Amino acid sequence: MPDINGFTVSPDRNAIGIRTYTVPGTSVALPVRSEIAPLLIGAAAEWHRDVEPLTPGWCWGYAYRNVVGGSTPSFHSAGIAIDLNAPKHPLGRVGTVSAAQASRIRAIARKYGLRWGGDYSGRRDEMHLEVILTRSAALALVDRIQGGHPPPAGGRRILREGVRGDDVRLVQTRLGVAPDGIFGPKTAEAVRGFQRARGLVADGIVGPKTWAELDRAQEGPPPQDRPLLKLGARGQAVTYLQQILNRWYPGMDRLAEDGIYGPATANRVRFMQGRANLAVDGITGPATWRYLHGG
Ligand SMILES: [Zn+2]
Repeated sequence: MPDINGFTVSPDRNAIGIRTYTVPGTSVALPVRSEIAPLLIGAAAEWHRDVEPLTPGWCWGYAYRNVVGGSTPSFHSAGIAIDLNAPKHPLGRVGTVSAAQASRIRAIARKYGLRWGGDYSGRRDEMHLEVILTRSAALALVDRIQGGHPPPAGGRRILREGVRGDDVRLVQTRLGVAPDGIFGPKTAEAVRGFQRARGLVADGIVGPKTWAELDRAQEGPPPQDRPLLKLGARGQAVTYLQQILNRWYPGMDRLAEDGIYGPATANRVRFMQGRANLAVDGITGPATWRYLHGG
């Protein structure tokens, strides 16, 4: 089955675990994918409480269809998107919410790992919220929202074997370990290797000094030119591209900013191209560069 960020798409609602939930505080019922329902239903409840009351019949969830006017499956086809008070916020209309409402919606979206259609860079969709995390990151967020322990505010957790979370995933992507968000023996070994290479105590634990060294290993200056980049390309321009994509999609798994145009980078470029209505080929050519630079 095709998928969006690891969420399978299907015309069969039972095959992908679609269930209908009543949004707390309302009589609005939304069919969404059960494994990530706490994200979308939580966001809908906060929208109702803090943005504007939700009207029954005006809110939609799962629907098996393509993006309107496009040929890629909509996030609704995977049960990972909702539309709220659709008639008040028609597709393509800009400014159907006040600035204060928009900033509240963005805060809700950040909390629940969602992207708001009002922030699309192409055609706006102010009714629309979608899960933009990969499936594993979304499930980890559901865990946390349902009682897990978030990292301390303003600081970074000390990470060691047995710990799980998005911060583990961040370390894994930086060290080139498959980013599953679980700190296992392979991650510990990669941390020890990094520590040895950087002259730190090789204890396999990511404490303040290792975090600082990991951060120092990031970021480079932008290149002067915009070469055509595709799978297999290497160099500073690729690192620059990866940095832009990481800034654009803060809720998705971080791309390793390693200057290597691998499958993950090509996929993220495809994702961006799809959202930007560009040809979806995973190649960063002139049109994609122009879009990345805002024209
Ligand atoms: Zn929608």
